[in-house]
Amino acid sequence: MKALFLATGNPGKLRELTGLLQGLAWQLHPKPEALELAETGTTFTENADLKASQLARAQGAWAIADDSGLEVVALGGDPGVYSARYGTTDQERIERLLGALGDNPQRRARFVCVVSLANPQGEVVHRGEGVCEGEVLPVPRGQGGFGYDPVFYVPAWGLTYAEMPPDLKQRISHRGQALAQVLPYLRAWA
Ligand code: IMP
Repeated sequence: MKALFLATGNPGKLRELTGLLQGLAWQLHPKPEALELAETGTTFTENADLKASQLARAQGAWAIADDSGLEVVALGGDPGVYSARYGTTDQERIERLLGALGDNPQRRARFVCVVSLANPQGEVVHRGEGVCEGEVLPVPRGQGGFGYDPVFYVPAWGLTYAEMPPDLKQRISHRGQALAQVLPYLRAWA
């Protein structure tokens, strides 16, 4: 089986990516802990490409990277690509987000994800993009998932991401949609 490295150190993302890539003829490997991947882009696409290429070149193997974040309409699209840097813990990030929105009734938000697949030369050979529309709840709900999941409510399902069974979140989420576009290429190159 060919090796596929996953370019994330975030345990929540790693769990979801591993679940979404189950059953493929690829041997999955986490990113080596000591390897720092620069995320210096200003768009999800730039950052996903950067992470996938750096990891592929470092390992001399195929690599897949996800860059994702929450765009809140009333905050002009913030925290967006800076979602991970909005605080140092999930709780801090959620508190800052709820503080920034206050009692603003405009709660619309979307999760965006770009997934990039790089070959062992570090060339990005395919990308997928997913978007999930929702709202930021004033009070967290649910125990599952990670990051902003307890405050991200998806009206189409009447649940927050944190209230969804993991297989439902994987199927309908921004990350699930983005990865679904890359799966045919992973099957073809296996
Ligand atoms: P990055 O892609 O490494 O820049 O990090 C994206 C950040 O967005 C994560 O650290 C989370 O805070 C947030 N995020 C991305 N996807 C999700 C998700 O599925 N649920 C909750 N938070 C997420």
